[in-house]
Amino acid sequence: MISPDLLEILACPLCKSELEVKEGKLHCRNSDCNLRFLVQEDIPIMLIEEAERPCPGCGTARAWEPDKDTLRCEKCSRAFTCQPPATPK
Ligand SMILES: [Zn+2]
Ligand SMILES: [Zn+2]
Repeated sequence: MISPDLLEILACPLCKSELEVKEGKLHCRNSDCNLRFLVQEDIPIMLIEEAERPCPGCGTARAWEPDKDTLRCEKCSRAFTCQPPATPK
């Protein structure tokens, strides 16, 4: 089990949203992002490349665009682009 303390400091590496534990994986709470991170021996694998990335619309695994900021579903063409938060000056 992932400790609540650890869960509290973790965020989705793509969209920085909070995560929740479901079915032994960490699910991003942003339903447009919808990344799912595997947990191995209580250690979450927080790598975007390793994450499952089902389409929120149809459930098909989405592929990365070449720029690696956009996930696009080949089936329904739904795309999710992560806008990095504006850096305060
Ligand atoms: Zn996310
Ligand atoms: Zn889709």
